[in-house]
Amino acid sequence: MKTEPGPGPSANPAANPAAKPEAAPARRAKPARPAASAERRFAGIGVSPGIAIGPVFDTTEPPSEAPRRSIAESAVEAERERLAAAAAFSRKQIGKLKTRLAVLPEEAQEELEPLLDAYILMLGNSRLLRNAKKRISEELLAAETAVADEAAAIAAAILAAKDDDKAGLNRRAGEVFEIAKRLTRNLLATPFRAMKDLPAGCILVADELTPADAALLEPGRIAGVATEEGGADGHTAIMLRALGIPAVLGCHGLTAAAERGHTVALDGASGRVALHPSAETLAEAKEGLAAHARERARLGKLRRLPALTTDGETVELQANLEIPAELPLIANAGAQGIGLLRTEFLFMNRDDLPDEDAQVAAYAPVVDAMGQDCVTIRVLDWGGEKEMQALSQGVPAAIGPNPALGLRGIRMLLRKPELLEEQFAAILRVAGRGNVRILLPMVTVPAEVAQAREIYDRVAKRVRRRGVELPEKLPPLGAMIETPGAALAADAIALEADFFAIGTNDLAMYTLAVDRAEVDVAHLYDPLHPAVLRLMQFAVEAALRLRMPVSVCGEMAGNPKFTPLLLGLGLRSLSMNASSIPKVKQAVRGLAIDDCARFTRRVMEQSDPKRIAELVAEFAAAPSKGG
Ligand code: PEP
Ligand code: MG
Repeated sequence: MKTEPGPGPSANPAANPAAKPEAAPARRAKPARPAASAERRFAGIGVSPGIAIGPVFDTTEPPSEAPRRSIAESAVEAERERLAAAAAFSRKQIGKLKTRLAVLPEEAQEELEPLLDAYILMLGNSRLLRNAKKRISEELLAAETAVADEAAAIAAAILAAKDDDKAGLNRRAGEVFEIAKRLTRNLLATPFRAMKDLPAGCILVADELTPADAALLEPGRIAGVATEEGGADGHTAIMLRALGIPAVLGCHGLTAAAERGHTVALDGASGRVALHPSAETLAEAKEGLAAHARERARLGKLRRLPALTTDGETVELQANLEIPAELPLIANAGAQGIGLLRTEFLFMNRDDLPDEDAQVAAYAPVVDAMGQDCVTIRVLDWGGEKEMQALSQGVPAAIGPNPALGLRGIRMLLRKPELLEEQFAAILRVAGRGNVRILLPMVTVPAEVAQAREIYDRVAKRVRRRGVELPEKLPPLGAMIETPGAALAADAIALEADFFAIGTNDLAMYTLAVDRAEVDVAHLYDPLHPAVLRLMQFAVEAALRLRMPVSVCGEMAGNPKFTPLLLGLGLRSLSMNASSIPKVKQAVRGLAIDDCARFTRRVMEQSDPKRIAELVAEFAAAPSKGG
């Protein structure tokens, strides 16, 4: 997570700046809040539409005691690294909390700031960490056991001091325990914790949810999700949309106020969250639920209709697939194939890497289910926010200080070609069952495609030698265009690649230097920024000049407001989360290509993103799309 299975905000002032530190280690009281019946409203980023009403399930409840563990001598280095990583992550969490202090009353700020500073110091080169590391090496203890032992030793020393200020001593000892608990939570925060057994109908409230955590949620079981962290186009948001779980991310203040069992009503479109909703709010939410169901039924009727513009141009609407559980949704949505199968799901929530057979077993049912419709399988895009346990162990060099700019996607696969070879082999083994394409993520230079193709050809020969029948012409090998470098070099990359898939999520992130999953900069994340649109235009034109297939598979493709713009740029293939297909199809069926082209020319003349957003909204709302 880094969802915290540790003490709830009420037990941890660092997790809850509004809670005041008292004598420790007793649980701290929550700040006074209005009577339970008084409604409190919060505003976040609506990332997955739908209304949810239900009791809070707060994953920040205390975990059961971490069991004492010893380690083998050979594991010492890895364990010390694990502790260092947990300390770095904890520092980052507290640093973030500090930036949030500004919203609190001045009195609370004055009290909490020094406390958070003390925590940050304790997470640096402190006695706690130095000695915990020593205990790992000398006593062969697991990191969490070493931390617990050292915290107990430090607290005992503090409490034994000759000082009349007993409350002060208690508080200092408590602070040591608090920081030890945070470290332990982060050490134990394997993403594949029990996300599966959440109470039916609950609303999951958490500081943060990783994409791997989100992948484990059962859509039929939980009503909704609300978190403090997260951005609209991060992978967690994408995963929640894919699962159709109404969700609001970036909802500041909610975890501090909400407790397990409290009632919450949330609107995953507007981002509104009401804690202890009034009768009036509840009635409104229930009406919203019914309206949402009616709208879904109405759009469902479009399933069998073609995605044809009013002037008879066909637009291919495909689905993005994050996890195999979505397969039935894709069939129901009327998708014409899969434009992006993110294979990260296969590598998440496990300690080891899936072998070739395991990959074949995962891809085959998808290819079979899609018949002759195309299935675009993207090879592993590890990195950025998509941390994966198995790879963190296997490719330690890949965990740089800035993973989004590090060994992400194709870079990591070319560094570890055995991973790419295995994945190519698995995909080739299912290629004969249907219509498969292979997509390379995070390409920035043509040479990466050329190198990947060399490996691809080599693997194909090997697979043939093993007796697997492969078509004469191998499945197309395409490149994601999702960095400004790739977009501007699209004409050169087009000479190496068989098709392009434009990833607007990363393209916007890297162009604008805005982390797509980071709530604090979410307001700056804007795929309508002219720089992003110009890069897209450049890439589309490079592909069209060579008559090479090009699609958009970023989140832009699933927003019907953007459909005229994408068609106007020359795109005729869009891949999106399955539940968006009906809305986008409806938009396509109301548009004429000429109008879209005229409208897009107007948009491309603009330099102000706000003006572009206005034009896009006006065009989407206009009954006649005359542009
Ligand atoms: C993108 O970046 O737009 C994309 C489709 O890839 P992902 O969201 O998986 O990074
Ligand atoms: Mg991407």
